[in-house]
Amino acid sequence: MNTLFLEKEFDYFKPETLNEALDILAEKKDVRIFAGGTDLIVKMKIGDSYKIENMLDINGIAELQKIDVSPNNMMIGATNKISVLEKNADIARRFPALQEAFLSMASISLRNMATMIGNICNASPGADTAGPLLCYGASVKIVSKGKERMVPMEDFFVEGGKTILQPDELVAEVHIPTPKKNTGASFIKISRIKADLAKLSVTIVLEREGSKVSACRMSIASVAGLPLYMKEIGDDLVGKEMTEALVLETADKISKFIRPRDGGNRTTAAYRRDVSKIISRDAMKLAWERSGGKF
Ligand SMILES: Cc1cc2nc3c(=O)[nH]c(=O)nc-3n(C[C@H](O)[C@H](O)[C@H](O)COP(=O)(O)OP(=O)(O)OC[C@H]3O[C@@H](n4cnc5c(N)ncnc54)[C@H](O)[C@@H]3O)c2cc1C
Repeated sequence: MNTLFLEKEFDYFKPETLNEALDILAEKKDVRIFAGGTDLIVKMKIGDSYKIENMLDINGIAELQKIDVSPNNMMIGATNKISVLEKNADIARRFPALQEAFLSMASISLRNMATMIGNICNASPGADTAGPLLCYGASVKIVSKGKERMVPMEDFFVEGGKTILQPDELVAEVHIPTPKKNTGASFIKISRIKADLAKLSVTIVLEREGSKVSACRMSIASVAGLPLYMKEIGDDLVGKEMTEALVLETADKISKFIRPRDGGNRTTAAYRRDVSKIISRDAMKLAWERSGGKF
């Protein structure tokens, strides 16, 4: 049941260094990381079996607040709020589909609290930033005491609500490579009202060489247990002449590929399947036009 109160008792930690945070994760039981809390606190209120003994607030850790930009890469630290990232000029210029995803999320007050990395760690099937990060070829830097590993986004999700993160690990950074010249990208989301989770969202990032597609990454969210990266459908476009017919054929493939569920309170499987075709078509056309391509 939702309630205004947090009924469970827990210890609260707010370390100032990453090492201290990693010690807490290594030594304590049932630690939950608090970034913006916009998913965590909801789970603590309504998840009767949600285990929390210790809350680890990572907002005091200066190392996680960084954003680094180099010609080939952008690094975003874990505690950067979405309302900051949505105004970042480098993100707007290099990764417009990611900026579109940020702006589609909830309300300004929510985005003032929420983080992009909390969004992917929560691993909701409809996480808005998952599609753009998958399609831009991002990787996450996962750290634990004395260890770190870089994992491509397509290997990060295990199932709805579950990532590859171990209890002693946290995501410190996301790294996104700069797209090549003649890249076009789009993110389109359908929701009941603006401030709501997606009924469905599609992300496309494609590279153009003349009138042909030279690379394409596609993702669709809210149509399966986890955000889907459609590698084969995207790869299948490589080397092909872009035409309206190819767009329609690909949109049709996508609507047959997805496995939407009935139920939930946002929409039906039939609606998601129908709309996936239309949104995929629109997103592909937009990405192609943004790459400088013509039909
Ligand atoms: C009213 C409302 C509207 C919303 N609308 C949208 C929407 O339109 N689109 C959308 O995608 N989502 C939406 N959400 C969900 C939520 O706001 C987002 O998923 C948000 O980005 C989560 O970020 P956070 O920093 O608040 O995460 P938190 O709640 O702090 O954390 C989320 C989960 O990730 C874990 N975590 C956080 N940071 C790390 C880390 N660095 N390493 C490891 N684990 C970590 C936490 O322990 C927790 O399990 C909405 C939520 C609410 C309440």
